[in-house]
This record gives sequence, C-alpha cells and structure tokens, in this order.
Amino acid sequence: MITLPEIKDILGNHDPLFVEDLASQSRQITQQYFGRTVSLYAPLYLSNYCSSYCTYCGFNSKNRITRIRLTPQQMRAEMKAVAGTGIENILLLTGESYKATPLSYLKEASLIAREFFSDISMEVHPMETHEYRELFLSGVDGITVYQETYDPHRYREVHLAGKKSDYDYRRDTPQRAAQAGMRHISLGILVGLSELAEDLFSLYQHLRWMERNFPGVEYSLSFPRLRKIKGRSFAVCNVDDTTFIKVICLSRILFPRVGLNLSTRESPGLRNHALELGVTRVSAGSNTSVGGYQLKPAEVQDPQFDIEDRRSVEEIVRYLKDNRFDPVFTDWRAIENV
Ligand code: SF4
Repeated sequence: MITLPEIKDILGNHDPLFVEDLASQSRQITQQYFGRTVSLYAPLYLSNYCSSYCTYCGFNSKNRITRIRLTPQQMRAEMKAVAGTGIENILLLTGESYKATPLSYLKEASLIAREFFSDISMEVHPMETHEYRELFLSGVDGITVYQETYDPHRYREVHLAGKKSDYDYRRDTPQRAAQAGMRHISLGILVGLSELAEDLFSLYQHLRWMERNFPGVEYSLSFPRLRKIKGRSFAVCNVDDTTFIKVICLSRILFPRVGLNLSTRESPGLRNHALELGVTRVSAGSNTSVGGYQLKPAEVQDPQFDIEDRRSVEEIVRYLKDNRFDPVFTDWRAIENV
C-alpha cells in the first residue's frame, strides 16, 4: 500500500513529464479494465430537510431556505422526468433528517423508483445494519456515504450539530451497509475541506479495509470538490485542476477495478479530460434542488450546490459517442422469480 509521504510527493510534484507519465499509466489501466465504457446516472433530491449543521452545505439546518419533501405523487413526476431522458441508474438523496425522511419514507421512495429505474442508490442519513437490510429488501442496490474528511479535528470544525457530527458513526457506515448486503458502496472525501494527502491516505486505507472484509461489494470512489451555493462561498477550495486530475490518476493506479465517479460539480472541459484518464461513471442532466426536474421553476430552486456542467443527458451521450466512448445506461437487471 502507498505511504503518506509517497502521496505527498506525487501531489507536490508539478513536473509536466511526471504528470504526463502518471496520466498515461492511469489511461492504460482504465482501458484495460473498463475499455471505453462510461456509466451514466442522475441524482434526484427527495427532501432538503436536515437536522445537521455542516458549514459547507446549502441544506444545513441554519440556512434559511424553503424546506420541501416530495410526496409520493411528486416523486413519481420527478422520476418520470428523469427516466424520460434515458437514465436508468438513479441516486436518491435527502438532507439528513431522521424525522422528516425516516426509513419508511425511504422504503416508499425505493419502491416507486423501482417502477422507473434498474439500479437505485441512496445518499441519505447513516443507519443501522438492520435498517439498511430493509432498504435493500425494498430495492435499494447501493449506498453512497462520504466521510468528507478523515481528520477528526477538522471534522469537528465543520460538522457543528446533528448526527453527522458523530465522526465514528459515519466512518463505520459503509461497514454496516455492506453487512446488510448492499451490492455497491461509494466512498469519498470532500476535496478542499482538509489536508488532501492525509485525507487520500485515510480514504485508501478505508477502502482497502472494506475490500478485505467485504470482498463481494462493488466499490466506487468520489472526489467532490467544494463548490459555491447560489454564488456564495461557504468554504474555499484550494485544490487546482492539475492536482485534482492527479488524484483521479493515482486512485485509478492504486485501485484498477474500482469505479471512479465525477459529478456535474466539475466543468465540461475537466469532465471530458478526466474521462480519458480514469473516470468511469458520470452524472448527466443533473439538478441538485428538490423538485428541480419537473416541479419547481429554476428561479425559486434552492440547490445543494451549484452545477458547472449543464449539458443534458442527450448532449453528454452525443459527446461520448463522438469521442469513441460507450455510454452505459445499465449493466444489470434484476430477475424476478415469479
Ligand atoms: S452535508 Fe448532509 S448532513 Fe450536512 S448539512 Fe448538508 S444535507 Fe445536512
């Protein structure tokens, strides 16, 4: 396993020849393990109620925004709009409110999503193993849960209230999801929040531990960079594009089989470049507001963060095909025993 000083050396080395060599290794490994396939997914926000206070997030409990939770009828309208674009992998998100979006609500959302999508992931409040089991049995395939930062001191500074301020409970969440039988789990850090090399080192160790203990799970990594919210900066991200690309390449070299996700937080140019080097899963046609696809006009939406890549699903598919990628809407289907 790579050491912390080695990661620091790689991130600190700006020699163009070194960066090109790293990129070339990453490109070659990605082609070897994934060919030119790129999976597509879309996020769909069910609720922005949140009882936690994370300083960098537009949904935090202290931020004055209109709070909404979709009704089953509204969920259907939103899901139908997303499914109409061709998307089959859906990521359902909520703020972290155990009261506003309890397990029963999430199970209902999953059952409705089954009508429209072949693969359902959730990025919601962390739960117990038996609760994840219930979600799995109601059709959820995967869980996304980012530690944000593995530095306990920095974690305390930016997670000021609510369940999310419990560092250990969050860190052990992927393990509970795996014990419940989830097929895929996505880990990540919020890039720009803390010392990058140290967070990467801890993330890699966490993923290695998960791979050793739960080898049947399909893993992916995400590196969301801090973003503005409606033009306001809640925190400053000081990780430049070259360093960010190096993070993607290094992750690919260390974990050849692991999916690397990249959201529409990043610009079209950077996303196109990252696809050549190591990213294998991208969101498309995204909206980060509750009801943003169908129900609420853009001028009254309260997004969780601002989007940089506003291309539609159709435009992204066209880009992928024009550049010899194979866009993948789904790579599996559940077989019902009737
Ligand atoms: S990051 Fe999650 S838990 Fe924190 S304020 Fe935002 S929605 Fe709530």
